[in-house]
Amino acid sequence: MAQTPEERQAKRVEFIRRLRDERVAWNLCFRCGKPLNGVKTLQCSACLAKEAERREKNRERNREYQRQRVADHRARGLCVHCDDPAVAGGRCEYHRKYYNLLKRGRNKRKDDV
Ligand SMILES: [Zn+2]
Ligand SMILES: [Zn+2]
Repeated sequence: MAQTPEERQAKRVEFIRRLRDERVAWNLCFRCGKPLNGVKTLQCSACLAKEAERREKNRERNREYQRQRVADHRARGLCVHCDDPAVAGGRCEYHRKYYNLLKRGRNKRKDDV
């Protein structure tokens, strides 16, 4: 009996879900299956640390992506916040106004003096 890739994927997901439920039920780390010793989290400290590391890496990748996007948009004369053509300061008309308002709000006290 031939299986479509979708069916195979569904089966794999089902298997992982069942394994996970079983591990949670047995108070084991749902990632690696190590005993949790009554810890309230669903993962052991090693897996938690790994996840934190992965999250940090994702954040870094995101930052890098944003940086590249800004550089790319600047090079093409587009607004750094959207895909509209930039009018001044690397921003489109809308975002220029928006950030001017924001800046004015932030510097209000300074300007009053
Ligand atoms: Zn673990
Ligand atoms: Zn814009």
